[in-house]
Amino acid sequence: MAPADMSADPFASDHRPTPDADRFSFIHVDLNSFFASVEQQIHPEYRDKPLAVVPTIGDTTVAIAASYEAKALGIKTGTRVSDMKKICPGIILVQGDHTTYAEFSHRIHAAVERVCPVAHVPSIDEVACQLIGREREPPRARQIALDIKQAIKDDVGSTLRCSIGMAPNRYLAKIASDMQKPDGLIGLLPSQLPRALLQLELRDLPGVGARTEQMLIRKGITTMPQLLALDREGMHKLWNSVWGDRLYHWLRGHDTGDDGAPVSQEMQKSLGHSHVLGPQHRSPAGAWAVAHKLLHKAAMRLRMEKMCAGSMSLTIRYQLTREQADSAKGTQLRRNETPYAESEEDTEHWDSRNGRTGKVKQHQSGLRHGGWGMEARFTSCQDTFTLLETLRALWAQQPTGPEQQRPFFVGISMSRLIPESEQQPTLFVDPDKRGELSRTLDKMNLKYGHTTLHFAGMLPARESAPTRIAFTQIPVQYGKDYM
Ligand SMILES: [Mg+2]
Repeated sequence: MAPADMSADPFASDHRPTPDADRFSFIHVDLNSFFASVEQQIHPEYRDKPLAVVPTIGDTTVAIAASYEAKALGIKTGTRVSDMKKICPGIILVQGDHTTYAEFSHRIHAAVERVCPVAHVPSIDEVACQLIGREREPPRARQIALDIKQAIKDDVGSTLRCSIGMAPNRYLAKIASDMQKPDGLIGLLPSQLPRALLQLELRDLPGVGARTEQMLIRKGITTMPQLLALDREGMHKLWNSVWGDRLYHWLRGHDTGDDGAPVSQEMQKSLGHSHVLGPQHRSPAGAWAVAHKLLHKAAMRLRMEKMCAGSMSLTIRYQLTREQADSAKGTQLRRNETPYAESEEDTEHWDSRNGRTGKVKQHQSGLRHGGWGMEARFTSCQDTFTLLETLRALWAQQPTGPEQQRPFFVGISMSRLIPESEQQPTLFVDPDKRGELSRTLDKMNLKYGHTTLHFAGMLPARESAPTRIAFTQIPVQYGKDYM
């Protein structure tokens, strides 16, 4: 059975209720021919024409991106300039400008954020959102996806098209975004899995690069049907690691924990919001402002979807100088186990004083970074003020050395989510009427726009009666960043 092509409304003529388990949890947005589309946006005279972006002008280099018109002629990333000129003598060659593409990437992020909070930014031309509550219902998820496409066109430019994938986990959402190009919209529902993946090539799986493919071929696996025929144990043996177990479950629409075991689908386990800071905001104060805003949005969303959180994790990534990255590498102890690190240079170091794991990692962009993370647990709640106090307390725990002066990524994740109807009635009175005040905030912000009310100064610091928060240290989750 083919995956649902969601660009035509498959729900319009079908009034059967979607089975309860058939829900999407992630939306993955992948810009089509991103660099080339940016050039066509900036230069209207390049639109609808074959164009290639090259690192330097000269016959010996290769394309780093090709426009859809060039792709139609067989020109793609990696095609040599001399070959391109043979195929299409009139091809427009543009020298790439990473600063411009990074700026457009930020504008796209902001446009998506206007529709649905961004959970992950896997790369310069991808954005992922996590869905909660009723957003997970297929018709509503589809509408969110269509609104994202429109927001990008309206806010950033008409040449910027994207393919969107919707699926029960991040891994499949990325796969779905790759199944229809350009301007695609594909949904993979749990009831269609794994058979909707049968026609893929092994190389279509994120993380399966040339090296991994060779390994699979050596072990006799050359097609998706062969891979999907393996049981969990077979997948574990094939990869000789817990990644086999994870992949087994991901391809079937499950979510998995660190040990590869599936996580219960009954309860959504966490909700994440994150933001990559623009270069001008990469300071402790800039990062705090972003964290504050992310928290405000996350809390409002919890209330909209009638949920409470009992845990908050904060992750910060810091840009490092070359010297800082080199000295951290010198203390490397353990290699990253993921098969997804093919092109990435990963090292890890252990700070014995603070007991936290952090890694130095190099982006495709050349940015070297380290990270820090911590989790706080508390009595489940949904009001902005208690959650903000928790965030402040977490924020105060972060290390403040020379390596932590250029934060460029902030992520906040709420977990231990429960429906608000299951929240234990608190034994204490709500002294500030925090719940009521939060709901008033929501009403005002929904009516007048999300930035109407800022609450930084609204609540006096309550040093006298701080919320009781238990801290747990969590390792920075680079090992799980498979995209
Ligand atoms: Mg892309």
